[in-house]
Amino acid sequence: MLSNDGSRLRVAIQKSGRLYEDSVQLLKECGIDLRNVKDRLRTESDNFPLEVFFLRDDDIPQYVEDGVADIGIVGENVLYEKNKKADIVEELGFGKCRLSIAIPRGQYYDGVSSLRGKRIATSYPFMVNSYLKQHNVEADIHEISGSVEIAPGIGLADVVADLVSSGSTLFMNGLKEVETIIQSQAVLIRNQSLNADQIEMLNRLLFRIRSVKKAKRNKYVLLNAPNDKLQEIISLLPGMKSPTVLPLAESGWSSVHSVLNEDEFWEKIEKLKAAGAQGILVVPIEKMVM
Ligand code: ATP
Ligand code: MG
Repeated sequence: MLSNDGSRLRVAIQKSGRLYEDSVQLLKECGIDLRNVKDRLRTESDNFPLEVFFLRDDDIPQYVEDGVADIGIVGENVLYEKNKKADIVEELGFGKCRLSIAIPRGQYYDGVSSLRGKRIATSYPFMVNSYLKQHNVEADIHEISGSVEIAPGIGLADVVADLVSSGSTLFMNGLKEVETIIQSQAVLIRNQSLNADQIEMLNRLLFRIRSVKKAKRNKYVLLNAPNDKLQEIISLLPGMKSPTVLPLAESGWSSVHSVLNEDEFWEKIEKLKAAGAQGILVVPIEKMVM
């Protein structure tokens, strides 16, 4: 039997599906080893006080509200649809999608009011209903649990409200996106009444998650610079404190090391090259501890 005496933080993650791989991967990147994860309902870590429950994603908000799990990883779409009491502690940057309304291509559409009286197939009745209310539109919501995109084609509904990432599924089914109800990504959620020990374990986990996320957004850059261009090149590089500068064996040249953010990455590289930098190496960073 696994222990459940409060000495471990219990996290609920999806058992299989789109969030499973990234959730397990995130824990791994946080240095948390999990015992034989496949085909288990729960497991624990030998090197971190964590116990993992593998569940249907729909059930995760309820488990966290009830405190059966202390924390969970779930899509914001599911969290809002279930409307449970659990707090978001961190956006995790994966499982990105949006809940959108889509109509058959060629069907007349002139804003949300065009949905009045329509039959809308969706797995997200709560959110679709509040969206329509907000826009003062009455429509007929048909809740179905999957394959929503085929509903108009088989005459079950006039329009759909479904999750979209690239839009290719909608396209293949002759549908076009007309409204976005919410943008979503996977988030870490927590029970609202954790005790001090649980909060401490959560903070340790969060510290690691943030270090991993930060590392993914940054690259380690090494380059060679002629000494007479050094000042200009250094001024382009932020670094964690300031760039590291080391002399090269060839006189008149230095090696410069720094960290670049992905948002400004290409722009900076172009400027560095233009300023005379050579042999630019870019290396991924595993963790960034600030
Ligand atoms: P479960 O068996 O756990 O109930 P599911 O079939 O409800 O799984 P998945 O299809 O595995 O759910 O999707 C899980 C989550 O992945 C979604 O709730 C959403 O947050 C996210 N997601 C990201 N992109 C997409 C997409 N294109 N379509 C559907 N979900 C997506
Ligand atoms: Mg589900």
